[in-house]
Amino acid sequence: MIREIVRDNKKLMIKSVEATINDLYIIDDMIDTAKANNDICVGLAANQIGESIRIIVVEMGGFFVPLVNPKIISHSKTTYEVEEACLSHEGTKETTRYHSIEVEYCDRTFTKKKQNFSGFVAQVIQHEMDHCEGILI
Ligand SMILES: [Zn+2]
Repeated sequence: MIREIVRDNKKLMIKSVEATINDLYIIDDMIDTAKANNDICVGLAANQIGESIRIIVVEMGGFFVPLVNPKIISHSKTTYEVEEACLSHEGTKETTRYHSIEVEYCDRTFTKKKQNFSGFVAQVIQHEMDHCEGILI
């Protein structure tokens, strides 16, 4: 089901809690909502559809892939500055991102995974993980 995008900063600033296996049904709504905004959307955090839970979806190779309870366990020493847009805000904001990250997360069957990401996908994951922390970009 396509849900409305949350644009209220007060709600977006609430830190999300760890997802449990009972929260995984939200993933379908997140992917439906991301697809509905696909012209401008490359990722979505659950709190952007009103659920303060640590689940993000990120576009990889044309598909929205869910990352449940993502944690960055290591990252490149190097960072770069970049202008980012967000579905929940007007305009863009400059921010600093790692070039590459190693992320531990659960997939949609709640199975633990560990994966390296770099480039734009790594940037989008870092943006969506900021949402989980209640950070506004
Ligand atoms: Zn955003």
